[in-house]
Amino acid sequence: MCPWISLLLQGILERLSAGEVVIGDGGFVFALEKRGYVKAGPWTPEATVTHPEAGAQIVGVNCHFDPMTCVKAVKMMKEGVEKAGLKAHYMVQPLAYHTPDCNCQGFIDLPEFPFGLEPRILTRWDMHKYAREAYKAGIRFIGGCCGFEPYHIRAVAEELASERGIIPPGSEKHGMWGSGLEMHTKPWVRARARRDYWEQLMPASGRPKCPSLSTPEGWGVTKGHADLLQHKEATSTQEMKHVLEMQKKVKTSA
Ligand SMILES: [Zn+2]
Repeated sequence: MCPWISLLLQGILERLSAGEVVIGDGGFVFALEKRGYVKAGPWTPEATVTHPEAGAQIVGVNCHFDPMTCVKAVKMMKEGVEKAGLKAHYMVQPLAYHTPDCNCQGFIDLPEFPFGLEPRILTRWDMHKYAREAYKAGIRFIGGCCGFEPYHIRAVAEELASERGIIPPGSEKHGMWGSGLEMHTKPWVRARARRDYWEQLMPASGRPKCPSLSTPEGWGVTKGHADLLQHKEATSTQEMKHVLEMQKKVKTSA
């Protein structure tokens, strides 16, 4: 684990045991790539993923799926832990992308991964729903992974402001539930300065030729398979040929 993450997590058990709702810090690797600090490719060693293990004091999931899918997964884990007569704190750090069409490997199988995912990004209003759902599920470490931006984390913190007894400092920069629009010059936009407008919004993608769902890649290989080893060198022409042939085979057998 990165030293600075260890530092951040110091005292986390005490804080959770005291009943605090802890909000995670948001996307790590994806944000670094967009800002030019990390090169896409050898991400695995640079990403920090905490695996829940037997007897863990904090149990939860990180990355690969959208918030509602991850909350559902943690609910199932919680049921299992409680059924075994054990106690734990629960955490969730999902993607900020909608992934209803993903199979068991999550967003990595999507044709849009990793550089065409933007149309799937959750709005701040989706984040309010996620935060509430996670809180209702008994999760008290509520954060985000790939795709999360600061305004997403702010929305999570704002949704849980009364439970946490803190209005996040970033809230000074905007009006809650679009209240800043009260001063807008267009009256139809002014009419959007209310919570129920944003809660009920069904945002369009604006891409008439795009499907609402994609077909994920289904190579049937996972961790440990020879084709999934981290390479020391860039993909050779020979390897690329092999990969494209495999892809063709997978597509024709689908
Ligand atoms: Zn992630």
